[in-house]
Amino acid sequence: MAPGKRQRLNKTDVKGSNPVTVHTDPLPASGHHVDRVDIKTGWLCNNHCIFCVQGRKREIYGNKSTDEVKRLLEEARQDTDSVVFTGGEVTIRKDLIDLVKFAKSLGFRRIQIQTNGRMLAYKKLCEDLIDAGANEFSPALHGHTPELHDYLVSAKGAFRQTVRAIRNLRELDQLIMTNTVIVKSNFRHLPEIARLLVALQVDQFQLAMVHPLGTAAENFYRVVPRFALLRPYLHKALKIGIKAGVIVMTEAVPYCFMQGLEPYVAERIMPRTKIMEGHLTVEDYTVHRLTEGKMKGPQCKQCIMNPMCEGPWREYPEHYGFDEFIPIRDTKAMDPEFVQEFGDYFRKNE
Ligand code: SF4
Repeated sequence: MAPGKRQRLNKTDVKGSNPVTVHTDPLPASGHHVDRVDIKTGWLCNNHCIFCVQGRKREIYGNKSTDEVKRLLEEARQDTDSVVFTGGEVTIRKDLIDLVKFAKSLGFRRIQIQTNGRMLAYKKLCEDLIDAGANEFSPALHGHTPELHDYLVSAKGAFRQTVRAIRNLRELDQLIMTNTVIVKSNFRHLPEIARLLVALQVDQFQLAMVHPLGTAAENFYRVVPRFALLRPYLHKALKIGIKAGVIVMTEAVPYCFMQGLEPYVAERIMPRTKIMEGHLTVEDYTVHRLTEGKMKGPQCKQCIMNPMCEGPWREYPEHYGFDEFIPIRDTKAMDPEFVQEFGDYFRKNE
């Protein structure tokens, strides 16, 4: 790289735009490979999201030392050249630049910063991270107004900072893949959130159904919306992104709520990810989701998408039941290109 020139991955490298692995049978054969390693650098965070999946881990585990994170990076490099720095909130670590430089020196090619975005309102920090080797940024934006976003993350001024961060990263020509957690307070505003993300010129936005663990489990009825109610808003939001040429994805939304928009189900193309928390390691997050995280109902056996579908997070039917999940019996309402792509699969299962 020429001195002074900042690295940028191509848009076609964005997760979801270049599907290498398409899962029609979600359970992998043994001896799987690892596409990506997520390293939890600790749990301290400057937000207190009302839907935080990590719950009280910040009080129990705090943050890892620099040496601990470096050891995890060395171990991770034996599996892959793609790493995600995640937490907690990684940008509040004073050693983050050093850690990113260290990852680069180990030969990691893709270095993603997963963040609530607030600290990246400081453009100098964005520049330093990019110069150190970071080349993908995944900030989280959960509302289209300060009132909504700040309420959800329990931090006044957070919206303004995260929006500033996205603008900074755009000005620096970086890959920006945002995440929005779908909860009771924002699902009716998903189209407005999508319009804002399009206006901010993000490369990709993902709308992820809240995972009811940690604080989200404690606040279950306050935060978890019904799929049947959120579906029209979700579809409208996705179509706004698609029309604008933004890559869009949903996470943890089963196919029976995605009819006509099946190509945008993230699970079908998610990279095989190892998660290193330090005190525990999840060798393959896909397997973990399928065996522990999610579940399906008795009616799923009659659904043609059953072999491809992961079902919802298990806490959803445990609280709300399975009545909303109507098995898909034919391909009539599906996206035609999706049906064409999986012609053999549907002939076998219809
Ligand atoms: S009915 Fe069950 S298998 Fe079919 S899409 Fe819904 S959750 Fe998945």
